[in-house]
Amino acid sequence: MEKKELIGLSKDELTKEIEAIGEKPFRAKQLWQWLYFRGETDFAKMSNLSKNLREKLAQYFTVSRPKIVAEQISSDKTHKWLLEFADGQRIETVYIPEEDRGAVCISTQVGCAVGCKFCHTGSQKITRNLTAGEIVSQFMVARDAYGEWPSPTNETRFLSNIVVMGMGEPLHNPENTFKALKILSDGDGIAISKRKITLSTSGIVPQIPKVATELGCKLAISLHAPNNEKRSQIMPINNRYPIEEILTACQEYQRNMSPGRYVTFEYLMLKDFNDSLDDAKELVALMKKFKLGAKFNLIPFNPWPGCDYTPSTNNKVHAFSRYLESFGYEAPIRVARGQDILAACGQLKSKKSDQ
Ligand code: SAH
Ligand code: SF4
Repeated sequence: MEKKELIGLSKDELTKEIEAIGEKPFRAKQLWQWLYFRGETDFAKMSNLSKNLREKLAQYFTVSRPKIVAEQISSDKTHKWLLEFADGQRIETVYIPEEDRGAVCISTQVGCAVGCKFCHTGSQKITRNLTAGEIVSQFMVARDAYGEWPSPTNETRFLSNIVVMGMGEPLHNPENTFKALKILSDGDGIAISKRKITLSTSGIVPQIPKVATELGCKLAISLHAPNNEKRSQIMPINNRYPIEEILTACQEYQRNMSPGRYVTFEYLMLKDFNDSLDDAKELVALMKKFKLGAKFNLIPFNPWPGCDYTPSTNNKVHAFSRYLESFGYEAPIRVARGQDILAACGQLKSKKSDQ
């Protein structure tokens, strides 16, 4: 009999499994704490369970982590893992530390079907969705590495935030992504608050309101252009879900969140394509038309071999940012991190598979 993997089961599912082996439901609670509060992977060490039960669990179940195939830490401490799952498929996870906190950037698919022209993951096509367990375990690998499971001597937490901005389109895999984020935010386990989780999407309109109603985490939209004509050139998905529909879905998201919860619009700065002040003006008009409480995040483009685009100049990026700020929008410029280890979307994986 093949043993069943426990990581990625919802609380209800875990309870059912425990009942199926003839145990009382409260054992599932204890087990949940071992898995997600303590990060324990060895049943033998689950000391408040009887020896008998520990042996029984080991007989039916596994608690595993993906295999770490490669790992790099950049000069700015950005930490990147290339992870391999049981079927040999690989994805990457990145930890981006700040002074007193940090975000773990997790992937939701192997490849991506959206095919944005500027994105290396998009050029790799889609292989498969990740399971909820595979999504959750990326964060667990990072916690293992930094020894951040609770212990009497461990109070600080640097791995404080989660950004769903790795490989893949999370809203093309909503069921597993939502399930994973529910596990990661569960108060009896890893307990990352939903305010510290950001889901980024290229704009899969029918799923956007669910980010509020099913999850309640932050939402980031990869907008990258101020009108449909330009956006469709770099993001073919825009033909299916144009800007107006995305912004209408964002309004619905906002209605379902507490006031002041702004949507973040990510905007990749591409030289002579979308970086003029006319573009910025159009962007402001768009936000006003839809009356959206919005923040921008200006992203320096990370070029990769074979890509047609070039990063905007620093001057242009700053002018663009100042223009948006003059209308009261926050518009920070994202600092490129982990440059020396190719920490941008999809690049470590591609380098390895070329070898
Ligand atoms: N599929 C989702 C989330 C993963 S991509 C989405 O598109 O939102 C995460 C972010 O990385 C997106 O904003 C994406 O546009 C950006 N990105 C993709 N390729 C990039 C590149 N070459 N340089 C900089 N940012 C890039
Ligand atoms: Fe997919 Fe996001 Fe890359 Fe577009 S930017 S191809 S949606 S991962």
